[in-house]
Amino acid sequence: MSEDCLFCRIVAGEIPATVVRDEARTLAFRDVNPQAPTHVLVIPKRHLPNAAAVLADDPTLLADLFAGAVEVAASEGLGDGYRLVFNTGESAGQTVFHAHLHLLGGRGFQWPPG
Ligand code: 5GP
Ligand code: ZN
Repeated sequence: MSEDCLFCRIVAGEIPATVVRDEARTLAFRDVNPQAPTHVLVIPKRHLPNAAAVLADDPTLLADLFAGAVEVAASEGLGDGYRLVFNTGESAGQTVFHAHLHLLGGRGFQWPPG
C-alpha cells in the first residue's frame, strides 16, 4: 500500500467507494465523476502505477482486470456495447497513478475519442 495513493486508500477502506465487485486481487467500484451511465474502475489491490507496470509485474493480473471489467459489464446489462480504457501517462489523461481500467457503457461513443 502507498500511503499517499487515493486508490490504495479505497482498497484499505479508508475512503468510501461504491464497490460493485470485490475479488482476491482486484476491486471494481463506481467512478465518483461518471462519464457514462455505467462508469466503473477496475483496479489491482496491489499498488502498481499503470497498465504497463501491471503487465511487467504479473500478466495474469492484467487478465484479472479485464475479466473483472467484462463480468461487471455483463452484470450491468451492457451486452457487448461498452468501452474499456487505460489512460496511461499525464498526456493521455491519467490523473490517478494507481492502475485502473475504466469500464464505460450505457450510451453511444465517438471514435476517435479526442
Ligand atoms: P484517470 O484520469 O486517471 O484515467 O482516471 C481517474 C478516475 O478516478 C477519474 O475518472 C476520476 O473521476 C476518478 N476518481 C478520482 N477520485 C476518486 C475517488 O475518490 N473515488 C472514486 N470512486 N473515483 C475517483
Ligand atoms: Zn495505490
